[in-house]
Amino acid sequence: MNEIDNQLSAARCPLCRKPVDAAFKPFCSKRCADIDLNRWLSGVYAVPVKEDEDEDGTRLPEGEPGEKS
Ligand SMILES: [Zn+2]
Repeated sequence: MNEIDNQLSAARCPLCRKPVDAAFKPFCSKRCADIDLNRWLSGVYAVPVKEDEDEDGTRLPEGEPGEKS
């Protein structure tokens, strides 16, 4: 009946399902921990900035370059 005890104690990495390393709980490695951290950060900073472009009221028609240099 060791299998049941194994499943209870061996947590799995939520990203790749590998056995968790105690040093990187709840992940299996630093790589997975970093991936999750990056996801979290990108979620925090994912702010719709482009909507502000309308403030100027200058919308360039598609296919026509608005500025010459
Ligand atoms: Zn992993």
